[in-house]
Amino acid sequence: ADAVEAYRAANPESHARHERARQLMPGGNTRTVLYYTPFPLTMISGTGCRLKDADGHTYVDFLGEFTAGLFGHSDPVIAEAIGQAVANGVNLGSHGPQEAAFAEAIKDRFPSMELLRFTNSGTEANVLALALAKHATGRGKVMVFEGAYHGGTLTFPASEVPVNVPHDYVFSRFNDVEATRQAIRDAGPDLACVIVEPMMGSGGCIPGDPAFLRMLREETEAVGALLVFDEVMTSRLGPGGLQSELGIRPDLTTLGKYIGGGMSFGAFGGRAEIMSHFDPSRSGSLPHAGTFNNNVLTMAAGLAGLTKRLTPSAILELNARGEALRRRINAVLSEAGADLVVSGIGSLMNIHPLGTEPKRPGDLAGADQRMRDLVFFDLLEDGFYTARRGLMALSLPIGDAECDALVAAVTRRAPRWAA
Ligand code: PLP
Repeated sequence: ADAVEAYRAANPESHARHERARQLMPGGNTRTVLYYTPFPLTMISGTGCRLKDADGHTYVDFLGEFTAGLFGHSDPVIAEAIGQAVANGVNLGSHGPQEAAFAEAIKDRFPSMELLRFTNSGTEANVLALALAKHATGRGKVMVFEGAYHGGTLTFPASEVPVNVPHDYVFSRFNDVEATRQAIRDAGPDLACVIVEPMMGSGGCIPGDPAFLRMLREETEAVGALLVFDEVMTSRLGPGGLQSELGIRPDLTTLGKYIGGGMSFGAFGGRAEIMSHFDPSRSGSLPHAGTFNNNVLTMAAGLAGLTKRLTPSAILELNARGEALRRRINAVLSEAGADLVVSGIGSLMNIHPLGTEPKRPGDLAGADQRMRDLVFFDLLEDGFYTARRGLMALSLPIGDAECDALVAAVTRRAPRWAA
């Protein structure tokens, strides 16, 4: 309660802006994940890894726009690419100058994406991948995992209102090898695909067990279903995505977030013979329109980001930094005796009010929400912006100084969190 009061007192301008927005958008909100009580902050600007809010506070941006902000704010190389694209005309109504080059850059990184198509968001990429899996297999069922998030219009858990649920879903438990193996065999000839994040991101940065993911590869193949890796968040966890780290080749992959250089982005792709269902030169092909699928700002920013900024060595360095940060924070928390743990892989992590790392989203049910909030508000007060649910995603401009400062803040606060 004290932390919330301090927050209110420190942020009158963000509060006023929220009150005004409430007259215009339901709850003052157009993006549910950004909502929290008593009112969310309004950020006014960002440079590098720093953000400035409406009341003039500055923060180190450890949220990284829920992983889409990997390049940080106003990266000069990306800004220049966008500037050039604007100067050359943004609504060409045709194939543009850079989309094939961008597709090639993506395919070079993710060779399982033999052919790919662009969308405007990760959600759309998943919607299309699921539709494709059904079309290609002639089957109706889609297996998803409890607590998974694959996009704003794809809401799975039975407890929530199913918005726009176009598929016949079968649920299974993440990281439960035997139950899932059986569920795949049971669904057998009706199963079009299994869609899975190799590490659940929104679900709490919960890594998939390699044995679990390998089982999915084997069992889907055995029943003739497709394996779809949603790498919208995880593609940053290795130069070739988490699939290359794991040595697993999915049939289809979906991408999103940072790959568009910070612009609206999504893509789906995979085995050539499956993706060819979208080839408009073939009779009976699947249609996939979308005015902004190949918008020149995304194509230019994404191409510059992937080829000039996010070299394989930059990815390795970013993830090594994240790995070290997570280890250090966990060491501080355990030394202080706080019931908090940071889960994740490399540059993606989530702090949880739990004694041990979660294996599946259901393990978060017992987490103390008030402790989660306390950590969030304490870190904000100390100048660190994270997600209310504890997600942190490193960006390229974050260096040793920012990580050291975060570890120092956690060290100062941890005794209070343990009390
Ligand atoms: N899939 C995963 C794993 C995600 O984390 C997200 C977004 O958080 C999406 C899909 C949806 O992407 P978008 O927000 O671009 O629609």
